[in-house]
Amino acid sequence: MSAVVSLGSNRGDRLAHLRAGLSILARRFEVTATSPVYETAPVGVGDQPPYLNCVAVLDSDDPEAVLAAAQDAEQSRGRLRSRRWGPRTLDVDVVSVDALIVDDPRLTLPHPRAHERAFVLVPWLDVDPEAVVPGRGPVRSLVRAVGTQGLRRWET
Ligand code: AMP
Repeated sequence: MSAVVSLGSNRGDRLAHLRAGLSILARRFEVTATSPVYETAPVGVGDQPPYLNCVAVLDSDDPEAVLAAAQDAEQSRGRLRSRRWGPRTLDVDVVSVDALIVDDPRLTLPHPRAHERAFVLVPWLDVDPEAVVPGRGPVRSLVRAVGTQGLRRWET
């Protein structure tokens, strides 16, 4: 029973936003693992600052509760975003909840782009070498496919 969430920030004190997001999640769930932080090149829109990203594993099998916590965490940091894929103080995505596959635009599981995003896959692999993206395959194989370009370990 575990849920995986991805946190990212590319505005203001990025590390503080990640830490604040993690502490909000930790108030509601047991956090069983937190990945190292990576600095990553922006995906989608190029002319924006680099992100800090990490992944956390939560002890939950309740997708709605995890989505609600993720959205509360985003809102707690102001959730400034001027455009889709533009700069944001804190973005928290639900990557997967157990092996669930849900095709609902309000909550799609696994996250529809998780399997192609190195900034999700690489930190996830750090904390769970056996991780699988439901319906997509082992994270280890997906990392091999997408590569690790644009990522570097951020020392904290
Ligand atoms: P974004 O702007 O990328 O943070 O997307 C937020 C919207 O995506 C919200 O309206 C969510 O309801 C929806 N959504 C669908 N699937 C997910 C997911 N797996 N994790 C987080 N948000 C999701």
